[in-house]
Amino acid sequence: MQTIRSSKPLEAANTLDSLETLNTTLQAYLSADQSNLVKRAYYFAEQAHHGQFRRSGEPYVTHPLAVACILADMHMDHQSLMAAMLHDVIEDTGIDKTAIDGQFGHTVADLVDGVSKLTQIEFSSHAEKQAENFQKMALAMAKDIRVILVKLADRLHNMRTLGVLQPEKRRRIAKETLEMYAPIALRLGMNNVRIEFENLGFGAMHPMRAERISTALRNARGNRKELVEKIGQQIETCLLQEGHVAEVVGREKHLYSIYQKMKSKRKSFSEIMDIYAFRIIVDSVDSCYRVLGCIHSLYKPIPGEFKDYIAIPKANGYQSLHTVMMGMHGVPIEIQIRTREMEEMANNGIAAHWLYKSSDGPSINGSHTRARQWVQGLLEMQQRAGNSMEFIESVKIDLFPDEVYVFTPKGNILELPRGATAVDFAYSVHTDVGNSCVACRINRRLAPLSELLQSGQTVEILTAPGARPNPSWFNYAVTAKARTNIRHFLKHQRREDSVALGRRLLDKALSALDSGLEQLGKAPIQAYLDQTDYDNLDLLLEDIALGNRVALITAQQMLGDDGETAVGNKGAFKAHPVAIRGTEGFMVSYAKCCYPIPGDAVAGYISSERGMVVHREGCNNLAELRENTDRLVPLRWDEQVEGEFSVALRIELENRRGIIAVLATRINSMDVNIEKISSEDKDYQYSYVHLEMAVKNRVHLASIMKRIRSLKQVHRVNRIRH
Ligand code: MN
Repeated sequence: MQTIRSSKPLEAANTLDSLETLNTTLQAYLSADQSNLVKRAYYFAEQAHHGQFRRSGEPYVTHPLAVACILADMHMDHQSLMAAMLHDVIEDTGIDKTAIDGQFGHTVADLVDGVSKLTQIEFSSHAEKQAENFQKMALAMAKDIRVILVKLADRLHNMRTLGVLQPEKRRRIAKETLEMYAPIALRLGMNNVRIEFENLGFGAMHPMRAERISTALRNARGNRKELVEKIGQQIETCLLQEGHVAEVVGREKHLYSIYQKMKSKRKSFSEIMDIYAFRIIVDSVDSCYRVLGCIHSLYKPIPGEFKDYIAIPKANGYQSLHTVMMGMHGVPIEIQIRTREMEEMANNGIAAHWLYKSSDGPSINGSHTRARQWVQGLLEMQQRAGNSMEFIESVKIDLFPDEVYVFTPKGNILELPRGATAVDFAYSVHTDVGNSCVACRINRRLAPLSELLQSGQTVEILTAPGARPNPSWFNYAVTAKARTNIRHFLKHQRREDSVALGRRLLDKALSALDSGLEQLGKAPIQAYLDQTDYDNLDLLLEDIALGNRVALITAQQMLGDDGETAVGNKGAFKAHPVAIRGTEGFMVSYAKCCYPIPGDAVAGYISSERGMVVHREGCNNLAELRENTDRLVPLRWDEQVEGEFSVALRIELENRRGIIAVLATRINSMDVNIEKISSEDKDYQYSYVHLEMAVKNRVHLASIMKRIRSLKQVHRVNRIRH
């Protein structure tokens, strides 16, 4: 970490003092065994950081110790404290997670590891404009919510000791704290931590402004003192008369919130200070409402200002009654009424529930609120589950139900729904990126497009110019944007492909009749379209490709033939087969019964769903289809045919252990892609292996078959044909 430097050690006397203080705090709420574990973690950290110093000159271990003290003051459990002691060990010393695991167990090791990971993204990302996403990502990444609590305490101590750093670095850390860590603390209901973050951050970012407001605040305090005391006394007297036991405290806004209000609401300092605020703390929920009635009879409540956060708690668990009243001389008086537990929750938020967990903490009674149930439910679940996993999962679900947060290579953060894959990521970057993506790297590792993304990963999309969306993406694209775009593209592409195929079929049919689309010219085509009620030529061509119209008959009608000569011209049509190039797209497919490859004699059949299906001439299925002669198209392979074509082989070979692996290795060594492989026993001596692979043409296939035959265990190799 950057705070380390080598220098002469200072006396470590105050370390001992802090350790003593911590020990006293721990004894108040942890068992002797638990306290000892915390101490063991301390000594481990002391050894690990031996020889390292903070910029202030103190031994480095004073930092983790201070972090643990912060958490102990919140009465966090012993595992959090141990993690706090060890939180910089992985990052800054040669010790790894396994070693911590061995010494202190999985849970503590996971916590330390989690804190280290957060520290890493903190340093690697410069996603300043995306502070909110960073917060969510940090929370989503932490498998155990205690990781966040340790991290917040770590940041709090660093903020408290910010003074020794260079001004520029001080400002950077302060900014990050205001943008990221203060909102996280707020979200978790940890108000005390949040306020300290804000005041320290504000002071470091804007020292002059902070100083000015703080002076103004001191002066105002003097002026207000008399009135504050007077109102306070009136409230106390009133409550006492009614027999309420309550604590009344005056409240003051903190520096940063005054500054924020001045800035955002364009109010003057005195306008903001013109409100007198008090908090009344009572012993039960029931008392809250009775005290409310009592003070409403003392001053006149302002309509519309009353809020019942006890019945309807805030999302972070905050509960209280809020009201604003009009005091003497028209000064507004703001009052919050809550129980001591609610006060604890308001100050420490999620950390408060560890306090309730310890038997010496305040007991929970008479509360039946949603927020309390939330915390209670989590607690019970954690106890039942015996480990923190389920517990943490449910905290995460409550905080962020359905999202993952990932980085682009440039460090921007994208929010995607849970279950999203690289395809979703690609489309959320840009539609063009989605449409042309072929592969991805997740954390620099090549990964399939179908892999589920997890928060904190960096995702890079690889694109290729000619690439197009694949229908199989529908199986794992979850975002609306990805799905809509894939659907749109496929539909559009299908139409383009079928128009192209229809054009070739019609052109061929015309040339069999000694004409052609070019030759024919626009006028006769338009006349034909008018006559047949087609809006344009593309629609006609599409219908031809889909087998709804026969190319040859259409050609004859275009040329003005009455159709009688059609039969006679079939021979001529045959003499002009359509050339297959292998690049036709969706509207030309290769039959899975006979696996035609370049070099085979082939014929096409126009199917209404799939466009043209290419079969081998000798295929039995084609023989059946021949009855529907209108849909048959004579084909040949283009000289420039491209791509790879599936072919199926049946290999008969000796039953030998490992022979399939030998076979597969031999085929792969010829750079041939095996698409499917399966085997069945023929008898005790021989097996059949069924193999599907992609080849270029018959010559290529022959050389592969020869190589397979050269294996001495291979008895026979056949290409499958139906
Ligand atoms: Mn630290």
